[in-house]
Amino acid sequence: MRAAAGKLLGLMQAVLQALLSLQEIDRDLFRAQSELKRLPAERTAKKAELDKRLARVAELRERSKGLRVRVKEIEDLTTTQRQRLRKVENEAAASRNDVALLAAFQHQIRTLKRDISTAEEDGLRLVEEVENLDKEAGTHAAQAEADKKVFDEFSRNVDREMAQAQAKVAELTALRGQRMGADIPSEALALYTRILSSREGVATAELDGRICQACYMQIPVNLVVRVQRGTELVQCPSCDRILFLPG
Ligand SMILES: [Zn+2]
Repeated sequence: MRAAAGKLLGLMQAVLQALLSLQEIDRDLFRAQSELKRLPAERTAKKAELDKRLARVAELRERSKGLRVRVKEIEDLTTTQRQRLRKVENEAAASRNDVALLAAFQHQIRTLKRDISTAEEDGLRLVEEVENLDKEAGTHAAQAEADKKVFDEFSRNVDREMAQAQAKVAELTALRGQRMGADIPSEALALYTRILSSREGVATAELDGRICQACYMQIPVNLVVRVQRGTELVQCPSCDRILFLPG
């Protein structure tokens, strides 16, 4: 009985040691793998922001272009109306003796002048609108250009950091493969791996007295005793991590 307990103790200590040896690598491995996910996501988000601003510039310029066409149409219209006005004025001058005809021409002249004046006001308002749109587009374009510079620099940093993280992952994965040589029962490994991913790369926690050094909660005495006995993997009831005693 005592021999069996002793063997179990030795076995569990070896498992715990093997897990702690993996943990030395896994914290950094987890961090590097997180970087490999975070960096491209961050770049995509920044790119989307930049694209949004560029789309705004394009939209403002498109509206401005549309209004310029309207301004041109109004100018063409008033040119035609002015020509027509001159013609009617000439006709009115020529028919000074015909009171009824003169009155009709004068009515046409008033109508034309009013139409021209209204069109000119519309044109001026549109020109002002075009100027405002161009100004707004210019502001956004300048900001987009500045943002693009920042983004390009950020993007180069991302490339560099990604390369570093990839190298780190490769290095740590190779190292991990070597350490996995130690026999870890599949159940213990599955437990360790599950906690590793739910606890951001740290599946083990040192026990200092009764305090878990990962979450700083106090552990019940009976659990401390079980950790000290060393015949099973004991998890912190608060943070779930596998507890070990200071070496
Ligand atoms: Zn804990």
